[in-house]
Amino acid sequence: MTNQILYAKLKENFGFEKFRPNQEEIINCVLSGQDTLAIMPTGGGKSICFQLPALVFPGITIVISPLIALMKDQVDSLKANGIEACFINSSQTENERQFYIERLKSNVIKLVYIAPESLSFLDNLFNSLTISLIAIDEAHCISAWGHDFRPAYTNLGYLKKRFPSTPILALTATADKATRKDISQQLNLINPKIFVASFDRKNLSLEVRPALDRVKQIIDFILEKPNESGIIYCLSRKTTEELAEKLQKTGVNAKAYHAGLDTKIRSKTQDEFINDDCQVICATIAFGMGIDKSNVRWVIHYNLPKNIEGYYQEIGRAGRDGLPSETVLFESYGDLIQLQKFASQGLNAEVQLAKLERMKQYADALSCRRKILLSYFGELVTENCGNCDICKNPPLFFDGTVIAQKALSAIIRLKEIEPLPVIIDFLRGSKNAYIYEKEYQNLKTYSVGANLSWYDWNQYLIQLINLGYCEIAFHQQNKIKLTAFAKKVLFEGEKVQLTTVQKINIDKQEIKQT
Ligand code: ADP
Ligand code: ZN
Repeated sequence: MTNQILYAKLKENFGFEKFRPNQEEIINCVLSGQDTLAIMPTGGGKSICFQLPALVFPGITIVISPLIALMKDQVDSLKANGIEACFINSSQTENERQFYIERLKSNVIKLVYIAPESLSFLDNLFNSLTISLIAIDEAHCISAWGHDFRPAYTNLGYLKKRFPSTPILALTATADKATRKDISQQLNLINPKIFVASFDRKNLSLEVRPALDRVKQIIDFILEKPNESGIIYCLSRKTTEELAEKLQKTGVNAKAYHAGLDTKIRSKTQDEFINDDCQVICATIAFGMGIDKSNVRWVIHYNLPKNIEGYYQEIGRAGRDGLPSETVLFESYGDLIQLQKFASQGLNAEVQLAKLERMKQYADALSCRRKILLSYFGELVTENCGNCDICKNPPLFFDGTVIAQKALSAIIRLKEIEPLPVIIDFLRGSKNAYIYEKEYQNLKTYSVGANLSWYDWNQYLIQLINLGYCEIAFHQQNKIKLTAFAKKVLFEGEKVQLTTVQKINIDKQEIKQT
């Protein structure tokens, strides 16, 4: 396929002049018949990566999508572009379903959206169709390591066995490495080519504030920009309703949105927001997936999010038009305790707790927040962003190269198999049972950091993680491992700037208030 034909199709069917980063490469890869894993941030333009190939391939493209509500929107917008598409799911009557099945058989339809639950009863139908491509949207839902596991997704591994020669394109905005690997394995992808688009969204400002008096802070924030719409994410349904009510009382046009509300009310609220008839949505994370509103000017997190993936996806709903947009996260100790409780009772407790810990570290960070976010997604950025609260109001830095060298050497000596507390004990020369049992006291660098307190080391190590020199292996008992960038500090003389440690005082008041 020459590039000119792809560009012509892009223009003719979607009205776009240029591809966004990675779209063209992904499309070419899919068209060559290769299994592909595409990782792109929310709003990055994943849909075209399967919609355009669907127009080129002779047969049908199956799109697996988790949300029935989303399918209709996607199909409607394809039809508006003159592309024949349909969906098949449990919301339809038998007659409707039969109608679309006939159209599929007569090869009129290019794209069919299917919920994973519906696959089994369509198996017979597949015998009489030519299937050219299988796209799996929100592919992280297959992995219990991701942040949005859906049991129905676990059956999708069957697709590769059923259609061994049909390429599969898996798409997700969740990028952590372990989840990526899990997705490929569970879908039985064959040597998938992996594309990771940059997650940097420079137009989003990043800010974290203490949650003290957050309702008042939010009201002040909104009143400053009466014509700009935004989303406030809350942890509980109850909070969304209470907050919306408080905002309404001050004259703000706000509404609550959560999965417990009637479908009609939900879609009405959603439409009002999209059409700028409602300024503020107070929502649980149920709101946003698939909502294509480009001029959301700000996103506030009323509560601490569960993990960085979710947080990044949610703030990503602001500023899709590329214009400057604000994000504010309220950090509260009370939220943290509550989230820890949820995580420890849920599926995959250890991993979820570790992810929550990273979220907390982000909120407590003393270095450029964008660097932290991007390093979480595996991108190393050397420049500070200039568009986060830390960059705008920097803490005091000192040359922490020696501290960094000691810490990174300790991690090497401990063969990258120990978690943070053991590394700190080792650096400080602790004489505890575990150290002696492993005979760590005989290794080089044992106790080279005895001059610093446990608290200081903890803070410095977190800073080194946030700077991208080492990482926590969530799926391997939280072992601390070095990244490829560690060698710059250890062997190439790179200087490391650290921040003086401040004790973060948590106001007792705030715990009561939440
Ligand atoms: P994602 O699924 O990755 O969140 P979408 O596929 O919904 O993203 O695309 C996000 C927005 O970007 C949509 O409004 C879409 O029309 C637009 N878009 C996608 N590709 C392009 C492009 N090449 N040029 C301009 N706009 C694009
Ligand atoms: Zn910054």
